[in-house]
Amino acid sequence: MPEGDVVWRTAQRLDKALGGRDLIGCDLRWPSLATVDLSGQSVLQVVSAGKHLLTRTSGGQTLHSHLRMEGSWYVERTGDPGGRRSTAGIRAVLTTNEWTAVGHKLGMLDLVPTARERELVGHLGPDLLGPDWDPVEAERRLTENPDRELGAALLDQRVLAGVGTFYMAEACFLARLTPWSPVRDVADPGEFVALVHRLLDVNKERVDQVTTGDLRRGRQNFAHARSGLPCLRCGGTVRVAMIGTPPQDRTAFYCPGCQQGPAPTDDGRPQKPLGSGRRKQGSTYRTRR
Ligand SMILES: [Zn+2]
Repeated sequence: MPEGDVVWRTAQRLDKALGGRDLIGCDLRWPSLATVDLSGQSVLQVVSAGKHLLTRTSGGQTLHSHLRMEGSWYVERTGDPGGRRSTAGIRAVLTTNEWTAVGHKLGMLDLVPTARERELVGHLGPDLLGPDWDPVEAERRLTENPDRELGAALLDQRVLAGVGTFYMAEACFLARLTPWSPVRDVADPGEFVALVHRLLDVNKERVDQVTTGDLRRGRQNFAHARSGLPCLRCGGTVRVAMIGTPPQDRTAFYCPGCQQGPAPTDDGRPQKPLGSGRRKQGSTYRTRR
């Protein structure tokens, strides 16, 4: 699932292709937008806000899209017959003289007056890759509810805009806390917020997402999508469980050897990870170290 860095890069690519250019074609294959035609307008700018994409036009309108699970925007030369991949999932085609942007399997598409963009993205927490990134406000929002599970707080776009399951798992690993640990167990929330920001920032310009500093395949990240594999740090087995309440629950990968704090067991109750010391009978949470 695309996270903030991918969405940021998509906005950069779209802005380079469309920004300042006139639309000579517009095909929005979305029920509520079937009659909308933006051709004749020019694209002023394409920006990202967390995981949202905002394409602003000279007509004072913003085409808002969200990639959700498997969406993407790609750019091809206008009129390039070989450029189109699959036509089945195409939801939007914006054409300029030189470049055509194609929105594929988009999770959301709507059109609002640019003046009302806030209604779409005003609820978001500080945008990790935004020009107005605000670490102080991010720390405030993160620590607002100290009992909340760290992983769930990170995934909440009202806390920090741009984190998905990949950066959540990696940030928790680097903090040596399981995703089910309460936020209050983060030793230095300011430093932690800076770490999350750094993770997205160093990866925003490249396709591979690297959190280990090691660019070799299979060694690029510590926890995410590595369940059953040996931990790169301790050699123990990386595990996976769900975090959050269905249907909004998400996968969370972690290493029981490296990360302290509660973790779900097969019967669904959180308990201390295996191998991390004594546990009192009947005590399912360890809330403080
Ligand atoms: Zn480990």
